[in-house]
Amino acid sequence: MFVASKLPKNNGSSGWVEMLPRRLAKPALESSITADVVVIGGGFAGLSAARQIVRLDPTVKVVVLEAGLVGDGASGRNSGFIIDLPHEVSAEGLGGGSLDRARRDIKLYRTAIDLGMELAEEHSWGKEVFDPCGRYSVARGTQGDEHILSYGKQLDALGEKYELLNTREIGDVTGSPAYTSGMFMPGTVMIQPADYVRRFADTFRDPVCVYEQTPALSFKNVGGSWVVKTPKGVITAGKVILANNGHAQSFGFFKGQLLHVFTYASLTERFDPKRLPGHRTWAATPALPMGTTIRRISDGDSDRILVRWRYSYNPSLTIGDSQVNSAGRVHDEKFLTRFPTLKGLRMQYRWGGPMALTWNSVPAFGEVAQGVISACGCNGLGASKSSAAGIAAADLALGVKSELVDILKAYEKPKQLPPQPFLTIGAKANMKFKELRAGDE
Ligand SMILES: Cc1cc2nc3c(=O)[nH]c(=O)nc-3n(C[C@H](O)[C@H](O)[C@H](O)COP(=O)(O)OP(=O)(O)OC[C@H]3O[C@@H](n4cnc5c(N)ncnc54)[C@H](O)[C@@H]3O)c2cc1C
Repeated sequence: MFVASKLPKNNGSSGWVEMLPRRLAKPALESSITADVVVIGGGFAGLSAARQIVRLDPTVKVVVLEAGLVGDGASGRNSGFIIDLPHEVSAEGLGGGSLDRARRDIKLYRTAIDLGMELAEEHSWGKEVFDPCGRYSVARGTQGDEHILSYGKQLDALGEKYELLNTREIGDVTGSPAYTSGMFMPGTVMIQPADYVRRFADTFRDPVCVYEQTPALSFKNVGGSWVVKTPKGVITAGKVILANNGHAQSFGFFKGQLLHVFTYASLTERFDPKRLPGHRTWAATPALPMGTTIRRISDGDSDRILVRWRYSYNPSLTIGDSQVNSAGRVHDEKFLTRFPTLKGLRMQYRWGGPMALTWNSVPAFGEVAQGVISACGCNGLGASKSSAAGIAAADLALGVKSELVDILKAYEKPKQLPPQPFLTIGAKANMKFKELRAGDE
């Protein structure tokens, strides 16, 4: 029997949710039902798994359980980059092994993007929800400039397209004098994450049923079936897909293997686009790891800027207002150095959210008990990785041979984290060191 020792708890809601009209949540489960597959978690991984199952076999009955409201979890509170290329191909060089691995990763990420494309086309979602506009990598000094050039060589070796931008060119895009160079990569899709996952959940019809505010409290095997208990209901099913990311550990899986890291974002109030030159819509990740992500979004006659920075280690799987505010103070500084002409513009929304990393950056994927398949451990680039892992979990649940499953199974298993207190000391020191190394970025 697997019992949830902890349920997810979000600290406030994100700007993405706040900007959307109120949505009627799917009802909670309040009865005993049967299904072929129960998916625990209604984020990228869970929704992608449900979609893939009915794509493979439209007669399979799927129940998706979301502990909170769809869009309130990490999948709805991220920065909205669905990225198609790994951030690093190899630290050492361009060896054949690392290129093969990068190509396999790209295959995973592009499968996730294809799924989004399919949804956006099928349901005529506009660019305000799903925008295949590409992304920039931006540098703020020599170290970042060099990093961009060396990454360009890695992309050359992979045969991937990109465009280098000098100081003036990246300034023309961002309207900011703060960047020294940039690189444009066309394959990233930008989403309004809360809108995307809400709409995604709302696409499902019979035989897929999504229940919100319905946490899975426990599941146990009874005579070959899994009996999943929720506060007011029970589901008896053949298979369970764990798509609850870090909370896989709350059921006792991947114990001592998931590193619970939170990251933070702030979003400005609206401003008149005339106040900032450059493109009205763009999205940039930092050239150096642990740097600052910036995104400009436009909504008719006004624009906003999103700043995402800081990682904190929170093994309790929760954060408090003080952590959000502390990250927010640094967001304000980073915003001002990049957009001095917008001085005085306030941040209207601030929030943080969880990510589940593994020590060796591999997914927590595969069959963890008979008929229980995990699609967890997003490790950054989670929009792409979790969606792909969800698709692969569905393939595995239905016993379908698939390249995604082969790719995910070929990864090493997650390594055991160091014991406490070394883990906390090491994780905090490591993040601090990387933040310092990222400097102004
Ligand atoms: C501020 C921020 C910015 C980020 N930016 C990006 C970005 O731009 N690009 C990117 O790729 N990644 C980004 N990430 C990471 C990304 O959001 C996550 O990696 C991704 O959402 C993971 O998706 P998931 O479906 O695996 O997990 P989640 O989104 O965490 O979904 C799991 C769901 O399971 C539910 N759940 C948990 N336990 C239970 C239970 N017992 N019963 C039922 N439901 C349960 C949770 O409520 C949750 O909704 C960012 C994260 C944050 C916080």
